[in-house]
Amino acid sequence: MSHIFPRHTKSNLPTVDHGKGVYLFDTEGKCYLDGSGGAAVSCLGHGDQDVIEAIKQQLDAVPFAHTSFFTSKPAEALADKLIAHAPEGLDRVYFVSGGSEAVESAIKLARQYFLEIGQPQRRHIIARRQSYHGNTLGALATGGNLWRREPFAPLMIDTSHISPCYEYRDRKEDESAFDYGQRVANELEDEILRVGAENVMAFFAEPVVGATAGALPPVEGYFKRIREICDQYGILLVLDEVMCGMGRTGTLFACEQDGIAPDILTTAKGLGAGYQPIGAMICTDTIYKAIEDGTGFFQHGHTYIGHPTAAAGALAVLTKLTDGGLVKRAAETGTKLRAALDDAFGTHPYVGDIRGRGMFLGIEFVEDKESKKPFDPALATAKHLKKAAFEAGLICYPMSGTIDGKFGDHILLAPPFIYEDAH
Ligand code: PLP
Repeated sequence: MSHIFPRHTKSNLPTVDHGKGVYLFDTEGKCYLDGSGGAAVSCLGHGDQDVIEAIKQQLDAVPFAHTSFFTSKPAEALADKLIAHAPEGLDRVYFVSGGSEAVESAIKLARQYFLEIGQPQRRHIIARRQSYHGNTLGALATGGNLWRREPFAPLMIDTSHISPCYEYRDRKEDESAFDYGQRVANELEDEILRVGAENVMAFFAEPVVGATAGALPPVEGYFKRIREICDQYGILLVLDEVMCGMGRTGTLFACEQDGIAPDILTTAKGLGAGYQPIGAMICTDTIYKAIEDGTGFFQHGHTYIGHPTAAAGALAVLTKLTDGGLVKRAAETGTKLRAALDDAFGTHPYVGDIRGRGMFLGIEFVEDKESKKPFDPALATAKHLKKAAFEAGLICYPMSGTIDGKFGDHILLAPPFIYEDAH
């Protein structure tokens, strides 16, 4: 009998043995094409020797040193490289071990920022119904997925949620994409006024929604309007790029394509590419300075923040993404993959929408293409597709069910950027 506590206690999963490039192999020798990088993690594929070598060298030098005693060369170099490529204004990087930790850190940084500048009443977070920001309590309260939130609702901080930007489902026939984007962005202003601007601390959003919506990008102008509203009411804009960042959408940071920069940005998954657990919260100098000139201490931290070995691995990953041209390749290969999906499934009667950016693509399934009627959630269509694909040797990431009474079944494709045409 196994003593591991699996997340799905009734599933009987194969045991992974090794990975090579875009493939994973189980202990029975079965080969799987990695079509989702796990959950948009393995952007370099498996067995990248440059990353492995960088990790080995750091292990030989020193695997770990606690950040209350030391900084480290890889963490310093990684922060500098991230900032060199980050959207204008972002200036300081706080390293953590994963996505939920990055979001949790962003929540606490936003709160501490307003305490430092003498606005202690600001503690309310606004986010979007169709969103996932992680599973720790603050991040879970911020996310808009009711099913995930429900059991823990009594434990949650103050948040409220506005509509997502979901053109396929919500744009009216007589409305341009731009006008639609402005309309849903303006819901943020309505919600700020409802809660009282003086009480709101931050708006959280994923630039391209991943886990809960299958690679859903915003329409043009949406985030520019969101940025305007946040500025108007002195509210921090936090963009969660845990899943869509690190080149996944064809630019290193997804928000580059929307022409805006946040006050705080979170990233994880692709940063370590699965070779090490690492995430980051990146903020503006204004926020950093408020703490530096105030208490001089961010009242938040974990034992493994700034882990030298994780940072060394991530530095090698980031070097491949930027200097090695893999972000550019993600954009090019993503365009080809999108065209192949359109060719193969564009007219399929059960495929309602194919969408996304770069190597971050989603397929939404419907029972009726014309009316966009979703499948009955009880059928768990996407989950069955995942199972069938897995049995056939393809790994893809499903989401079945409804959020907000609207959403059906999606498959998310987030393959390694090293895909060739044949894959
Ligand atoms: N934020 C987003 C947008 C995510 O997609 C996820 C995970 O899927 C998280 C946060 C949480 O990250 P982690 O699972 O590394 O804690």
